[in-house]
Amino acid sequence: GRVVDPAGTDEERRIEAALRPRRLADFPGQGRVRDQLGLVLEAARRRGSPPDHVLLSGPPGLGKTTLAMIIAGELEQPIRITSGPAIQHAGDLAAVLSSLVEGEVLFLDEIHRMSRPAEEMLYLAMEDFRVDVIVGKGPGATAIPLELPPFTVVGATTRAGLLPAPLRDRFGFTGHLDYYATEDLVTILHRNAALLEIEADDPGITQIASRSRGTPRIANRLLRRVRDWAQVHGQDVVDEPAAQEALALFDVDELGLDRLDRAVLDALCTRFGGGPVGLSTLAVAVGEEPDTVETVAEPYLVREGFMVRTPRGRAASPAAWTHLGLHPPEQPAP
Ligand code: ATP
Repeated sequence: GRVVDPAGTDEERRIEAALRPRRLADFPGQGRVRDQLGLVLEAARRRGSPPDHVLLSGPPGLGKTTLAMIIAGELEQPIRITSGPAIQHAGDLAAVLSSLVEGEVLFLDEIHRMSRPAEEMLYLAMEDFRVDVIVGKGPGATAIPLELPPFTVVGATTRAGLLPAPLRDRFGFTGHLDYYATEDLVTILHRNAALLEIEADDPGITQIASRSRGTPRIANRLLRRVRDWAQVHGQDVVDEPAAQEALALFDVDELGLDRLDRAVLDALCTRFGGGPVGLSTLAVAVGEEPDTVETVAEPYLVREGFMVRTPRGRAASPAAWTHLGLHPPEQPAP
């Protein structure tokens, strides 16, 4: 239920589907990955053969699924979408692989969550375009090799480091997606506002973009909340005051910190003198589980330089004090 959660609900993914750009040229941000991918796809198109398998890594909500669909679109090929958790048995994967048509794109989301036997089957299939279908059980079982037409795997993972090396090595191209610059989010939001028939001016859009933690999914969600606010208040245009009021209502501050983020910083600064303090002590102070503080609040606070992790616990940076409107303590004399 957190408005700045980078993960999307199923319902939200349905809303988002209409907003996905369809071509690489319409995909703002991630310039390097976009250019590299453009080259790989163009070369494959000229050769008339499928490109190398593509691995997309990076945090949730940055556009891995969108890019997978764009890859299929650019190659003018159909796409099959499944995910690591949906493929628990090698048989599940064999069924998918054996029904692929030549050139098809197979999108495997959360590929690091596939079972080991399925993983092994996958890297054989990626390398040799072949699967061994096991017929029978026990000592009488036999492996029947099945040739597959050439296809392209697009794997997505939030944790490229968790992929076993043999699987990672089968991807000829890896694109790492990073958080978006505010100006790229501004471009994305203008386009989406137009698609959703929301009238929005530049300062309004910029307010939303700068509070969206570099993540298009969060930007889209905040845009919808600001649109709600504007509608209920009889305002035709999403402008800066509307964005400020709406996002204050949802507890998202100018830098995208929400109530929990600020509670953590506040406890660090005002109760523990800036730390360092152990994670569990900090969690008790904000009334949350240590795991919640560590996985929900901490990554963004660390990324934005508000919090540092030290061997003796979590500490507030001078930026944290300033953000809360407090004076950082004097540095001890050297
Ligand atoms: P997850 O792994 O959580 O599914 P993801 O990285 O696959 O996340 P997407 O589902 O592709 O992310 O993107 C989330 C939302 O953000 C979608 O609505 C998508 O349209 C939008 N989006 C992401 N990147 C861009 C972009 N560069 N331009 C426009 N919209 C984008």
